[in-house]
Amino acid sequence: MSDQSESRIFYTKPSIADLEVKYALDAARNGWGDKCYEYIDRFEAMFCEHLGVKYAIATSSGTGALHLGMAALGIGPGDEVILADINWIASVAPIVHLGAKPVFVDIDKESWCLDPAEVERAITKHTKAIVAVHLYGNMCAMDRLREIARKYSLALIEDAAEAIGSVYKGAPAGSMGIFGAFSFHGTKTITTGEGGIFVTNDEALYSRVLTLSNHGRRKGEVRQFWAEEIGFKYKMSNLEAALGCAQLERVSLLIKAKRTVFEAYAELLRDMPIKMNPEPEGTTNGYWMPTIVVDEDVKFDRDRLLSTFKNQSIDGRVFFWPLTKLPMFEEDSTHKVSYSIYQRAVNLPSYHDLTYGEVERVVDIVKHELMSGYCED
Ligand SMILES: *Cc1c(COP(=O)(O)O)cnc(C)c1O
Repeated sequence: MSDQSESRIFYTKPSIADLEVKYALDAARNGWGDKCYEYIDRFEAMFCEHLGVKYAIATSSGTGALHLGMAALGIGPGDEVILADINWIASVAPIVHLGAKPVFVDIDKESWCLDPAEVERAITKHTKAIVAVHLYGNMCAMDRLREIARKYSLALIEDAAEAIGSVYKGAPAGSMGIFGAFSFHGTKTITTGEGGIFVTNDEALYSRVLTLSNHGRRKGEVRQFWAEEIGFKYKMSNLEAALGCAQLERVSLLIKAKRTVFEAYAELLRDMPIKMNPEPEGTTNGYWMPTIVVDEDVKFDRDRLLSTFKNQSIDGRVFFWPLTKLPMFEEDSTHKVSYSIYQRAVNLPSYHDLTYGEVERVVDIVKHELMSGYCED
C-alpha cells in the first residue's frame, strides 16, 4: 500500500532558517574565550522578555530545568508531589531522583491536564508541590490550582515544555507558577537541539538555582573552583543558545505556523466524532501537538490508524501512557479518564511548513478510519 511518490510527513520537525545557521556559525567560530557566554546571556534575556518574567537560567534539557527547580525548592525524601497520571516521563523523573514520592491523579476530560478536584483530594500532610503540565499546549486550570496551592501552602510548578505560545488570562504558560520549565528538544515548537530553561519571578529561588546549576558554586564567589555543596551540571552551551536566539527572534512566526496547522485540521475534521485540543475562553493554545480524541461510543483502533499512517509515509504518535501503567509505578485503574482517553487518542503531524495538501492527506486517512469504525457496528 505504500506510496513512494508521496513525501514522508514527519510528526514534527524544526524550522532552521538562515538566521539559525548564521548565529550557530558565529558561535562555532567566535563564541569562545571572552565570548563564551554571549549567546547564553542573550538567550536568557530574550526569553525573560518573551515570557514577561524576571529571571531565566538556560539548561541542557527541560528535565534538567525541572530537576534544578525542584531541588531548589527542597523537595526530597518524605515529600509528596502531585501530578497528572497522563504525562511524559520527564515530568515525574526528577521527583523520583530527588527521593520524593509522585502522587498521580486523574486528568480532566476536557483539558487532558490534571483535574483540580482530584488534586485537592490527593493532598496529605506530606504534600509539598503540584506540577501543572500544560499537555500538548492545553492550559491547566490555573485559577483553581493557584487557589489550592495557596490554601494548602504548596508550591505550584509549571511544566510548560509543550506550551510555548499558550496563554492563560493574559499570562503566558510558564510565568504563573513558583517556577516554570521549558524544553527545546528537537520536537518542540522552538529548539536548540537539546536544551531547556528554568524561569521564575522569585529572586531567592533564582539565586538558589543559579548556585545549584553551577556545581554548587555561588555567584560572586572569588575563590577559583570553590564549591560549597554538591550541585548539578545542567548548562546550555553557547552553541545551543545561538540557535535559541535565532529561534526566539522567529518565535511568533513559529507559533503562528502551529496554529495555522491546527486550524486546518480542526476545519477539515469538524464533523467527525472526535475532540481536539481545547481553547477555552480566556486562553490561547500554542497547539504544540494537534491531537484527536475519538468519542467513546465510536469503535476505534488506534494501532490500525497508526499502521495505515505508516504505510502512507506519515508519522503518528500515540497519546502518552498513563504513568501508572509503567512498571516503575503502581497501576491505578480508578483513574477512569486517563485509562480511557489514551486508547482513543492520537497526535497528528504538525510543523511550520506542513502544507494544507499534506494536512488533507492525513485527514483523509483519519476520516476513512473513523467511518469504517461506524460501519462495522
Ligand atoms: C519534552 C518535555 C519535557 C522534557 O524536556 P527535555 O528537554 O526532553 O528534557 C518535560 N516535560 C514535558 C511535558 C515535555 O513535553
